[in-house]
Amino acid sequence: MRKTLNASKAVNLYKNLPKQHRTGLAVASLFLGGLILLPSESVEASRHHDAHILDAGVRYPVELHITPSTDVFSGEEESTWQTYKVRSGDTLAKLFKRAGFTSRDVYNVTHAGELAKTLVTLLPGDELSFKANKDGSFGELKYKLSSTETLFVRPSSQENGKTLTAELEKRDVDIRYNFAQGEIHSSFWNAAVDAGLTSNQIMNLAGIFGWDIDFAMEIRSGDTFNVVFEEQYIDGEFVGYGDIVAAEFTNQGEQFSAILHEDGTYYTPEGRSMRKSFLRAPINFKYVSSNFSKARFHPVQKRWKAHRGTDYVAAVGTPVMAAGDGKVVKSTYDKYNGHHVFIQHGEKYTTKYLHFKKRAVKLGETVKQGQTIGYLGSTGLASGPHVHYEFLVDGVHRNPRTVELPKALPIAKEERERFMEIASERQAQLDNNKRIMLAMK
Ligand SMILES: [Zn+2]
Repeated sequence: MRKTLNASKAVNLYKNLPKQHRTGLAVASLFLGGLILLPSESVEASRHHDAHILDAGVRYPVELHITPSTDVFSGEEESTWQTYKVRSGDTLAKLFKRAGFTSRDVYNVTHAGELAKTLVTLLPGDELSFKANKDGSFGELKYKLSSTETLFVRPSSQENGKTLTAELEKRDVDIRYNFAQGEIHSSFWNAAVDAGLTSNQIMNLAGIFGWDIDFAMEIRSGDTFNVVFEEQYIDGEFVGYGDIVAAEFTNQGEQFSAILHEDGTYYTPEGRSMRKSFLRAPINFKYVSSNFSKARFHPVQKRWKAHRGTDYVAAVGTPVMAAGDGKVVKSTYDKYNGHHVFIQHGEKYTTKYLHFKKRAVKLGETVKQGQTIGYLGSTGLASGPHVHYEFLVDGVHRNPRTVELPKALPIAKEERERFMEIASERQAQLDNNKRIMLAMK
């Protein structure tokens, strides 16, 4: 899910990332990390941003209405840029008119080459800047596509400036590495926030380990994590976060490690995919309120033995996911189980989900891991809103925490050598930072 964001989504995500630096441990480690970590590599932003242009065709065309906007002073001598913010319903033609230019100018600009076509699909929130000539006629146009890419439409340097050409200006993104570390006392979320991670990073971290750890029910006091993640800088200025490149999580004494490979997939340091046949929990931990104290006072093991399943308590309407790829073999209502869904995964495995408020899949339907199959409720014999989750192997109820599951796939042979290089580099980053943190204590 993390790694399959399409480019335009990635750009949006990028735009929305908070700009402030983190506090506390992360800041301290930024300082120290800068001294000790491997030198920053200059990395082209192409992975996240190149496809933006190619994707332009799939962005929604916007109908045109004009909205007033803020004027931005660019600091350039002759004439200043005037910036217009696109709102829902805006069109290029109206923006041009608003800026005091003609429909002829619109025509010229949109015919300034292939790149200029991206202007036809403006999105609300986009900003267009115009620069006029001394006589007030159209001079230049500037359209910021992302933190790293800006489209310019301006007179061609050839042909005496009689025609317009569209050019993309890219700025290099420097990737630097930062480190965060935490120990859980009240909840994973609180510990991660205290460690300086953003909510996006927290969700990503839980996602990386979502096949190994049940973040909703199985987190315990004393669990720890270490994370190395990218920060993106342009001209020395922090512009956003990149990927988590390495992470460790110790859950109830068991340690899990993940390293990001160049293909965007996380593997164990030994080169096995983190992705497995089953998610540990059919619900995103962020919806499970006060999961930690509940888990502490009602050990899952005990509760599981009592009724052969795990209850996830959350608000009515919370989406519940298929734990693995499979086929819906039951989707119905009865007075005991309420609205419930059973999914068959291959020959051996079945998962059951009870007490939905509403089912989202039909009998016979094929579902993907992580797909929403229903919405949490309290239908049937349920004391309150929760999803009752059962995991069966060969028709026998098993505890999903302790049952032996199919092993994850190893990394492709031809990728293995390169991955091992990356893994040892990342492991060194983790270890160095852990040493520093220890020294600071
Ligand atoms: Zn139950």
